[in-house]
Amino acid sequence: MNATDRALTEQNRLFQGMDFTSVEYMLEHCSVRSLDTGESLLQPDVPNHHLYLIFEGKLSVHLAAQESLEHATLGAGECVGEISMVDGKLPSALVVAAEPTRVLSIPRDTVWSLVDHSHEIARNLLGIVTGRMRNDNRALITSQDKKKQFEHQAYVDALTGVHNRHWMVDAFPRALHRCELNRSTFAIMIVDIDHFKRVNDTYGHLVGDIALKTVAQCMAESFRPHDLLVRYGGEEFAALFSDTDLEQAKAIAERLRNRVADIVIQHEGISFQVTVSIGIATQQEKKLEGLIGEADQALYRAKELGRNRVVIFS
Ligand code: GH3
Ligand code: MG
Ligand code: MG
Repeated sequence: MNATDRALTEQNRLFQGMDFTSVEYMLEHCSVRSLDTGESLLQPDVPNHHLYLIFEGKLSVHLAAQESLEHATLGAGECVGEISMVDGKLPSALVVAAEPTRVLSIPRDTVWSLVDHSHEIARNLLGIVTGRMRNDNRALITSQDKKKQFEHQAYVDALTGVHNRHWMVDAFPRALHRCELNRSTFAIMIVDIDHFKRVNDTYGHLVGDIALKTVAQCMAESFRPHDLLVRYGGEEFAALFSDTDLEQAKAIAERLRNRVADIVIQHEGISFQVTVSIGIATQQEKKLEGLIGEADQALYRAKELGRNRVVIFS
């Protein structure tokens, strides 16, 4: 080994805090490997019997194929391959040179001899392995957070912040089933903003969006925490009320209708009001599609009768 490589080996994490000269002779049979950019050092389907000390360059670690996102980058002074070298199983990652890279390959037998010879080396190797585990745990937590975030985005309407129809398909039947088991009353409501096309046509789509958000917020604030509310379509919302009979549902709907009618929406000097029509269906029908269909018919009737009103399906 030339003087430069000797110095690079001595500086590696594996030999930190120890007398390198006392183990130097054991590295006689180690070889230096040069990798071109894109060349792989470890592959998930190729057994590994070496520990690699990085002299210079950069290695990128991918948990699956090279096309998958980079998991970590390793550089001079670090090691790689320690896990598969220790447990004798296939590498858990693909490790590829991100730039021209040189490494020292230490065969497994030599690593064990080094460990037998020096507590510091054993300790350093342990530190390297646990450091890797910590990194992996951190990555796991981040990916779980991301998963939660994606799930949230999949179920929540971005504009209004209330749940979307996708969520309804899952949540409403479960709530209906609970009502059936508990023999409790329930009601379904469809709320549609009146002449909403006019709002868009008169003030523009952006202002329309503000009106939509305002109405959604008013609904979310008017209902109890366990009432289910979704944006059902463009300017239509659906809500499910458990433990609620027809009279109560009607009262909730009337209260909401009045509240919306009282709101003055203001934006950059524009000020206007909107109203909603509401169709209600109760438990004669047990299936969600049927209930929605009935509430829709009641809503249609409310529109026919002049809008800004509540109609119960009969
Ligand atoms: P009606 O009283 O009969 O319900 O009349 P309407 O104009 O509200 O009904 P229509 O279904 O004809 O129009 C709904 C409008 O809602 C048309 C569509 O452009 C608008 N819309 C749907 N989604 C959005 C949205 O996310 N933002 C905005 N600004 N407008 C939307
Ligand atoms: Mg409408
Ligand atoms: Mg509509």
